[in-house]
Amino acid sequence: HAVDIADPIRTQAILRRYGFKFKKSLGQNFLTNQRVLTEIVDAADLQPTDLVVEIGPGIGSLTEQLARRVQQVVAVEIDSRLIPILDETMAPYDNVQVINQDILQTDLKTLIAPYPDHGAIKVVANLPYYITTPIMFRLIEGEIQPDRLVLMMQKEVAQRITSGPKSKHYGSLSVSVQTQMATNIAAIVPKTSFVPQPNVDSAVLVLQRYLESPYQISEPELFNKIVTSSFQQRRKSLQNNLCTLFGKDQRPQIIEIIAALELPAQVRAEQLTINQFNQLTDLCAQRLA
Ligand code: SAM
Repeated sequence: HAVDIADPIRTQAILRRYGFKFKKSLGQNFLTNQRVLTEIVDAADLQPTDLVVEIGPGIGSLTEQLARRVQQVVAVEIDSRLIPILDETMAPYDNVQVINQDILQTDLKTLIAPYPDHGAIKVVANLPYYITTPIMFRLIEGEIQPDRLVLMMQKEVAQRITSGPKSKHYGSLSVSVQTQMATNIAAIVPKTSFVPQPNVDSAVLVLQRYLESPYQISEPELFNKIVTSSFQQRRKSLQNNLCTLFGKDQRPQIIEIIAALELPAQVRAEQLTINQFNQLTDLCAQRLA
């Protein structure tokens, strides 16, 4: 083919030929902007030996760019109407395997088992937005531990994930992701880069697994509980949120713990760094009943 799948005219022609109607419920917004595809592929820092898992290939716009750069791409697409289209568009690429499944139901280990000889495992996706957080956490914490995730998502969600203390976007999502992965927004992507256009702008988020984690969380379960509760009511003080979690009778000890961390008595969760949440967790584990 003289032009890439993402070329707007070729995309329209493919969709028309198959009589394809977009399903909003499946988050179907296809990329037709070559510059954005290049930004995604650059953010993935692809090496020829990488094994790439793609979520939701659509008609294959991004898949094609990936297939040109790595030895193997495995693409999981839920919509069976797209499978014959992908058979056609992916025909020139013998290193692409398309699987007709729901990624939330897919056993990721089984998915990559046929390809044992590979360098890094990377997940690259223009995500259907309704599954952004569940799929992201499964990829971070789940069975295959990819080295890098490059995920197109709603701009606001990417901002929440990458923000630090004192930002209005900083919250439990920032903390839970950043304890496990280095985060970075590689590009902001306007609505006009997709057909049909979504309602909000998007961003390309890069999550890179730490070689050595900067955070040693000794009580991960309690840490998560404390972080979630601390941000539960953002306007409330940390002290009050912790009293809700541990019980009002613990208030004197909670006041002492906050003082021991050299934080103001009325400090709010959004002012604490990850390391401070970690110290807070250790003190709560030691001093609270
Ligand atoms: N990668 C294509 C592109 O960039 O043009 C399509 C991206 S579109 C935002 C999301 C794709 O994910 C759609 O093809 C949709 O059918 C598919 N999808 C939605 N939910 C899915 C799920 N649970 N598992 C796998 N694919 C899914």
